[in-house]
Amino acid sequence: LHVPLKLATGAVIGTNPAQAHYLGTVMRRRAGDTLRLFNGADGEFDGVIERIGRHGADVALGAQTRAPAPEPDCWLAFAPVKRDATDLIIEKATELGVAAIYPVFTAHSQTARINHERLTAIATEAAEQCERLHVPPVHEPRDLAQFLADFPPDRRLFVAAERSTAPPLVAIPHLQPHALLVGPEGGFAPAELDGMVRHGFVTLVSLGPRILRAETAAIAGLARLLAAPDQ
Ligand code: SAM
Repeated sequence: LHVPLKLATGAVIGTNPAQAHYLGTVMRRRAGDTLRLFNGADGEFDGVIERIGRHGADVALGAQTRAPAPEPDCWLAFAPVKRDATDLIIEKATELGVAAIYPVFTAHSQTARINHERLTAIATEAAEQCERLHVPPVHEPRDLAQFLADFPPDRRLFVAAERSTAPPLVAIPHLQPHALLVGPEGGFAPAELDGMVRHGFVTLVSLGPRILRAETAAIAGLARLLAAPDQ
């Protein structure tokens, strides 16, 4: 269970009502049952439920089961697509190990809004399911110009560009800061691609000869960037 609270052996932590509901109703846990908790900073701990009710649960923390470990410094930026496809992108990006997620609106974006709370919940559930110790933050959406203006110039940005002569995307050392940007179903506008390549931190990359759906491109690109063991 992900809890945004300080974790330490011997502490008793109080969950919020939503987490107590998840534990009691979804996971069917009762007082005396055990679980594992993580918070993205302190690693993972054994816990025993001391009390569980509608307003929260008290969990006594036991031994640390996993220490915090560095994760690949890879961000995903993507143009939100239809709801189910966006949900899939968030879930799979979290499973594959991205450090942060940036929804970015582009000229051909089909969706002008996202449900930020829902996407954060999907990332949290995916991290719990795949036993990651870190939930990637889903940032508030911004438009492409703002995303590029805020982008740290010491991080490499790989922009997935279909129908281009760009070189294939290849894995780079995990701890080197990098990001993948995938466009919407309508693709990037030519002016957007021209504008992006003027930034020294941008590299256009290909994911093969076929035109992939945006969600396939995000998953395939991240699989390539994140599959290799730490280098
Ligand atoms: N409407 C565009 C077209 O017909 O040319 C296709 C856009 S594609 C469905 C959505 C996004 O996925 C693209 O903006 C790009 O970022 C990525 N993508 C899809 N196939 C790709 C490929 N073979 N190489 C690199 N990126 C790809």
